[in-house]
Amino acid sequence: MIPFLQHNPTKLWFGKNQIEQLANEVQNYNRILIVYGGGSIKKNGVYDDVMNQLSDKTIFELSGVEPNPRLTTVNKGIQICRDEKIDFILAVGGGSVIDCVKAIAIGVPYEGDVWDVITRKSRPTSATPFGTVLTLAATGSEMNCTSVISNMAVNEKRGWSNPLVFPKFSILDPSYTFSVPLDQTIYGIVDIMSHALEQYFHRVSNTPMIDRFIESLLITVIEAGGKLVKDLENYELRETIMYAGTTAFNDTLLNGTDGGDWASHQIEHAVSAIYDIPHGGGLAIIFPNWLSHCLDYDPSRIKMLATNVFGISEEGKTTKQVAEEGIQALRSFWNSIGAPNRLADYQIDDSRLDELVEKSFVKPVVGGYKILDKESARDILVRSL
Ligand code: NAP
Ligand code: FE
Repeated sequence: MIPFLQHNPTKLWFGKNQIEQLANEVQNYNRILIVYGGGSIKKNGVYDDVMNQLSDKTIFELSGVEPNPRLTTVNKGIQICRDEKIDFILAVGGGSVIDCVKAIAIGVPYEGDVWDVITRKSRPTSATPFGTVLTLAATGSEMNCTSVISNMAVNEKRGWSNPLVFPKFSILDPSYTFSVPLDQTIYGIVDIMSHALEQYFHRVSNTPMIDRFIESLLITVIEAGGKLVKDLENYELRETIMYAGTTAFNDTLLNGTDGGDWASHQIEHAVSAIYDIPHGGGLAIIFPNWLSHCLDYDPSRIKMLATNVFGISEEGKTTKQVAEEGIQALRSFWNSIGAPNRLADYQIDDSRLDELVEKSFVKPVVGGYKILDKESARDILVRSL
């Protein structure tokens, strides 16, 4: 293991009716901006539950945050916070709403263009405090300091992190995710598994605890996720997936490692930046092709995944054969729950391949388990067509 600091300051309230903690959590704030998406929270009752907790506050609202949240919406939120002297922001929604709020929070006290922060040209020193009420299990954004924002003016989707944007608290009631439709439920399962998988592909020795944590998370999500897609209002399954989603990306799975290999997320961001497809859908297509791309380079960890998560037998087989069967098993699971498996499923062909390769390299280093060059990224994208 390599030396590490574990410090996640987000308070997590998990379980049925935990919304009752909200009033107490915001007791020291008065002017609150509530941020949400396209209206699902008004249909499923979450909006009313939130408002009931905030009856003594002055409330402002920013609605219409897009899936793959946009810089233009972030800037709207920053303006409201400045004009209305907002002292607390509450994100009510999935990862897109939370990511948007993180960018608003850091943008309010920052004098320059918030895109400079997102593109890491500058590191600000303060942020408006915010909390979250999560309605979709997927990103882990509710308990990490990462955010992903799309700037459609330049077709870029950029991930950024800053410890200033850990939520102060997050409230997770699994019953709030009953109304998540089947497709978003599938994308959530894929995103959760991808986060765990990408952290699995690190290059640090003697990490048995972390490796087994990740394997058990994957086994659990496969088991519960396979059932959940046929039983969307099952509380226990929603509960398991929601807890897995938070744990998959709140630093628990990278203690002592180099953080893993996030090349598939970076390539997916390039695809989403140009074609605006759902994040989990893109990952379901790209991640197995990243694995196949790595097969000849180093199949050792792919083989470990195959045996420990998918129960593939090693008898009479080479490392590469076992690894290949593991990739097939992952693909089959994602197919079985209805995830897409080709870019063609989103009507994406090779006409903008060069651009997709270029946009995959908005950060200087892509990969970790295998550092990718542009030819490698192209290979993964071509396999994905
Ligand atoms: P999302 O984009 O937040 O939401 C997707 C859709 O689900 C929206 O249309 C939303 O509708 C709907 N929805 C949410 N909760 C619902 C509910 N309870 N009932 C019915 N519909 C509901 O999805 P997400 O997967 O959580 O977030 C995706 C974004 O996060 C992408 O931009 C991705 O790149 C990013 N991401 C961030 C991180 C991170 O660590 N920060 C990690 C991975 C990915 P409404 O708009 O009407 O609410
Ligand atoms: Fe993700």
